[in-house]
Amino acid sequence: MGFFQSQHITENYEYAIEQILTYENYNRTRKFSVILFLASIILLFVDHINKVEGLWIISDGYKYLFYSHVILGFVTLFYSLVSYRIIVPTAKGITRYHKFHVIVFSLFILTLTAVTSGWIDQKIHGQITVYVIGSFMIAVMYSYKPRITALLYGLSFVAFMILLTISQKDLVIRHGHFVNASLVVVISYFLSNVLHKLKHQDMLHKCHLEDLVTERTKELQTANDSLTQEILERKRAEIEMAKLDRLNLIGEMAASISHEVRNPMTTVKGFLQLLRHKQNSRDREHFDLMIEELDRANSILSEFLSISRTKSTIFESHNINDIVTSTLPLVQADAQTNDNLLTVELNNVPNLQLNIQEIRQLLLNLVRNGLEAMSGGGQLRIRTFSTNSEVALAVSDEGKGIEQFVLEKLGTPFFTTKEKGTGLGLAVCYGIVSRHNGRINVETSPIGTTFNVYFELS
Ligand code: ADP
Ligand code: MG
Repeated sequence: MGFFQSQHITENYEYAIEQILTYENYNRTRKFSVILFLASIILLFVDHINKVEGLWIISDGYKYLFYSHVILGFVTLFYSLVSYRIIVPTAKGITRYHKFHVIVFSLFILTLTAVTSGWIDQKIHGQITVYVIGSFMIAVMYSYKPRITALLYGLSFVAFMILLTISQKDLVIRHGHFVNASLVVVISYFLSNVLHKLKHQDMLHKCHLEDLVTERTKELQTANDSLTQEILERKRAEIEMAKLDRLNLIGEMAASISHEVRNPMTTVKGFLQLLRHKQNSRDREHFDLMIEELDRANSILSEFLSISRTKSTIFESHNINDIVTSTLPLVQADAQTNDNLLTVELNNVPNLQLNIQEIRQLLLNLVRNGLEAMSGGGQLRIRTFSTNSEVALAVSDEGKGIEQFVLEKLGTPFFTTKEKGTGLGLAVCYGIVSRHNGRINVETSPIGTTFNVYFELS
């Protein structure tokens, strides 16, 4: 970002920079006044030696010098005490009062040195060194806006000139001092402005840099966040893929084995039915049991087979609400035997490419699991709704929820926690949903579980 393009931002910083500069001025005054107070004590000591040596009799300038040192001592003591009592912790705490405090101190130093040089020193040795030192010191130590600098130097210079005119009778020396003092004041003024400008620009750059760093940090943070998100997404997809892989393998096995097992089973069942008629009633019970068990085995095989259809599933445009409604009688019967309450909430959803048989199977399996999860008296809820890009079928129960280790294995064929479970219900569901290009999302807590099945809108 170029310095000039960002002029509008610069204006926002202006106020903050002024605050910081005044803050620095204020803190400097704190130390400066203490140093000057200590200096005034030394000067008073020198005054004392001068007196002892009899210089005070030679010129009354020494006496006035002593007074000026007394004033210096008192004022700097006052400033030291005040500014050590009122410590401003940050630049934000700077007020107009602090600004005034600092400016008055500078004015005091300049005026005192102007008076010393223009009046007292003219009585002693006719030099203006003190005023020169005072002017440079203020220029170097403080950072003021140009108009404040002009005011400070202007006032002190006027005082200096008046006093010099009164106390220096030698015209040549007076003109020499006049020229020198003007030069000193002008140089100090420019020096002060240059330093102020440099500091100001330095801070402006710092502000820009800080902003830039904050901005970049933010960018990095968002990049990092989305990366983490992506990694998580990928991991999830990998797990999903592994699950599907297992399903496919099982499916292929199922397709080839089930056929081979079913045929002999049908034969056995036929002979059993035939033999049953020839037996007495006590043995018939045994035959019934055998046939029943064979039927059970057969139904498990059917379910197993449907994990992966070798025949490609036929999809037609259907409304999922219609499928739910037509499956409802079956579901209702299931719910009633378990003494559970069934609620259905069907929202308007668009048609989808679906296979009726498979969606029915999906709904039945989910509902059955939900009912089995509740030990009677719970509410089972079937809900359809659509989002921007998907249609959802949700089955919620009020069971105890699913434990983490079970959650990780959901959909794995033959994984079951039930004594008489087959562990095939969800495997079938996952197979069906994957053939429909959908996804299953499970929300579970100790007060219930919701299986959300999402189908993409084509
Ligand atoms: P099965 O019902 O024969 O056990 P599933 O594949 O249908 O086989 O379910 C596998 C396992 O997932 C269940 O044994 C059960 O532990 C868990 N499960 C499935 N649905 C739910 C549910 N709604 N609430 C609690 N646990 C569930
Ligand atoms: Mg089940």
